[in-house]
Amino acid sequence: MFDPVKLQLDFPILQRQVHGKRLVYLDNAATSQKPRSVIQAISNYYENHNANVHRGVHQLGDESTQLFHQSRQKIAIFFGAKVEELVIVRNTTEAINQVAMTWGQEHVRAGDTILLTEFEHHSNLVPWQILASLVGAQLAFVKVTEDGELDRADFRHWVQRESKIALFAISHVSNALGTLNPLLELKTELLAKHPQAKMLVDGAQAAPHLPVNFKELGADFYVVSAHKMLGPMGIGGLLVVRELLSELRPFFTGGGMIDTVDWQETAYAEDLEDKFTAGTPDVASLSGWAAACEYLSQLGMKKLADHDHDLVAHGLNSLAAVPELKLVGSPSATHRVGSVAFIYHGVHAHDVGQVLDSEGIAVRSGHHCTMPLHTKFGWAATVRASFQLYNSTEDIDQLIAALAKVKTIFGV
Ligand code: PMP
Repeated sequence: MFDPVKLQLDFPILQRQVHGKRLVYLDNAATSQKPRSVIQAISNYYENHNANVHRGVHQLGDESTQLFHQSRQKIAIFFGAKVEELVIVRNTTEAINQVAMTWGQEHVRAGDTILLTEFEHHSNLVPWQILASLVGAQLAFVKVTEDGELDRADFRHWVQRESKIALFAISHVSNALGTLNPLLELKTELLAKHPQAKMLVDGAQAAPHLPVNFKELGADFYVVSAHKMLGPMGIGGLLVVRELLSELRPFFTGGGMIDTVDWQETAYAEDLEDKFTAGTPDVASLSGWAAACEYLSQLGMKKLADHDHDLVAHGLNSLAAVPELKLVGSPSATHRVGSVAFIYHGVHAHDVGQVLDSEGIAVRSGHHCTMPLHTKFGWAATVRASFQLYNSTEDIDQLIAALAKVKTIFGV
């Protein structure tokens, strides 16, 4: 049976206390905690295998190179992608910037439309603003409804109205509202009118909770951060369908990604893995991320998705029973993944966060890097509780109990 409390033992940090209380970590959408196997994979690399890849004709160089390739392979398999479709980046933000500055600059033309949604994290907004101003394209935004769903009629409107949509960039799961977007349906509708359009999916909040199969999703680009899915910080993935990647100009150039170099010109490596790996790769973090993928796969992503669904449903039900709160986003757990968020009437979200912290409960308060969405709905800030496999319904009950302290302190 799936037992989150037992799994907490795999996460050393969850054994510590905060302000003399058990740590209840509900800030997983910002970053998740790391199991011992991930921490050990990283230290094992530096303790036993550290050497630069591909260059040394010596044992450690071989081991490091092997770890590099094995880790890439495991990560690609986890996402149902071919290993050469995985470009290693620092994080989701870097991945989106790379797409904007390479594919975007080459393919998005003056007058084209880049279609986004009102859900998007600043990381999936600012790079497109810059690209649009560089090439003379325009941005359009599919509306989000009051109950936190993508407005399908508005999507249809944009698809029908715009003469050329070059790119549709959308989050798989919204980090602010937890909404799960129906990617395949949207892609089908988009391509019927704009057959050349490409779809970039921001998977930062989906990969930690749902089985993700890159091949079946319909995305041309899928971007993730390892640190939100039990892996280390500073590493992430840009998945690109092979046909598209083979035409793509590498964003980073230099050592390691070349075939031949002379003073004036360079021929890039034909092998796609080499072509998109400029400079020394972070093998330690890659092995840590691969260990995270193994840990998740062993538990089973389907099981983890079910557990997440139970937590979201329990969170929504429990919060709905607190009269001082207004829930934001969908009140139903059906299309909601990973988090619940609310506004406490009469108390600023940061004050709520601080009271919860004094009880050992870590949540996030603010605009969650979705400032335009918060402005649209007139929310100064919201409080978000976000989940991982080690959270239990008792964690949520503890959150609800601690909210009573907010009432006592602020007298609302
Ligand atoms: N997109 C979404 C949906 C996110 O939740 C986040 C992280 N909050 C990002 C992008 C950016 O991720 P990173 O900071 O790891 O680049």
